[in-house]
Amino acid sequence: MGNLEFNLTIEKIKESRINQVDFSNLAFGQTFSDHMFVCHYKNGSWQQPQIKPYAPISLEPSASVFHYGQAIFEGMKAYKDDNDNIFLFRPQENYKRMNKSAVRLAIPEFPENWFDEGLKALLKVDRDWIKKGVGNSLYIRPFIIGTSTGIMASPSKEYIFFIITSPVQAYYGGDVKVKIADYYSRAANGGFGAAKAAGNYAGQFYPTQLAIQEGYQQVIWTDDTTHEFLEEAGMMNLFFRIDDTLITCPTSDRILDGVTRKSVLAIAEKLGIKTEVRPIKVQELLLATENGSLQEIFGSGTAAVISPISGFGYKGKDYKINRPTDLYASKIKETILNIQYNKSEDPFGWRVEVI
Ligand SMILES: *Cc1c(COP(=O)(O)O)cnc(C)c1O
Repeated sequence: MGNLEFNLTIEKIKESRINQVDFSNLAFGQTFSDHMFVCHYKNGSWQQPQIKPYAPISLEPSASVFHYGQAIFEGMKAYKDDNDNIFLFRPQENYKRMNKSAVRLAIPEFPENWFDEGLKALLKVDRDWIKKGVGNSLYIRPFIIGTSTGIMASPSKEYIFFIITSPVQAYYGGDVKVKIADYYSRAANGGFGAAKAAGNYAGQFYPTQLAIQEGYQQVIWTDDTTHEFLEEAGMMNLFFRIDDTLITCPTSDRILDGVTRKSVLAIAEKLGIKTEVRPIKVQELLLATENGSLQEIFGSGTAAVISPISGFGYKGKDYKINRPTDLYASKIKETILNIQYNKSEDPFGWRVEVI
């Protein structure tokens, strides 16, 4: 697991770019803050990390990541309360999950305490990039790429771990209309759908483009063998409310174990909402839509927290969801935001202050 002594050097930017940024008009994930965290892996260990100005990097065209796709990432956020205190939400879950992805992609694991200390140091250097107010946050994108040169198909011997950050505003994707996949698959049994690996997303773009051409915004993926079971969306886990029960499918080789998903389940239970973690069939959804017991569908993920789904298409037919006024989606979202922005008690111990 590399050299456990952590000796971070910080090289600060000469002149901050922050005054060039319009924080009231940010396109999601297009603006990056002044600094980045960088750590190289070579000769069998992670080297001493650095924080330095965000800038282009130089790699040889034969670098392994360009050919064989050893690339994994994470997605998390930092929040500021009204007193300028900075918080992370369940960061240990992301540290652990990145290492699970690393193992599956034959990438060396990154020491969790280095991740933690490096991230917190980076947030302190760029603390002005985190704006107050519910909805404003700093999106954090850690990632690892294989950088060895040479085009033999074998695991890279060298890697770079980066953390870059991007100020974002509340992400209102609007109500989402989704297409239920009946041919393409996102992940397979024994595959790496459960890892946050770059290749999982590359493979979704084409079928998602086709769905967009048909008037949907996203695809709901089904299991690759039968296409009978509802699984997840592009970057969101899924919840179905049938009558008053909130249902989500179990995680597996094919499904990303979302931090928001886990949090939604815990909060729903706390709010006295009945939850079920079990496989759910497309047929069950169609039946529930027909007989009126389907109340809501929503996605869960770090970027938008909760994304309500207004309707879905399946095999060429469109279905609309007649949602009640007291949505579980709204109650649960509010509870999560209050915890993230230090506006309420945190009975779960999820909030981590960056001091
Ligand atoms: C990141 C991601 C999610 C959501 O995970 P969170 O930890 O809640 O952000 C769900 N599905 C896929 C495929 C993802 O990549």
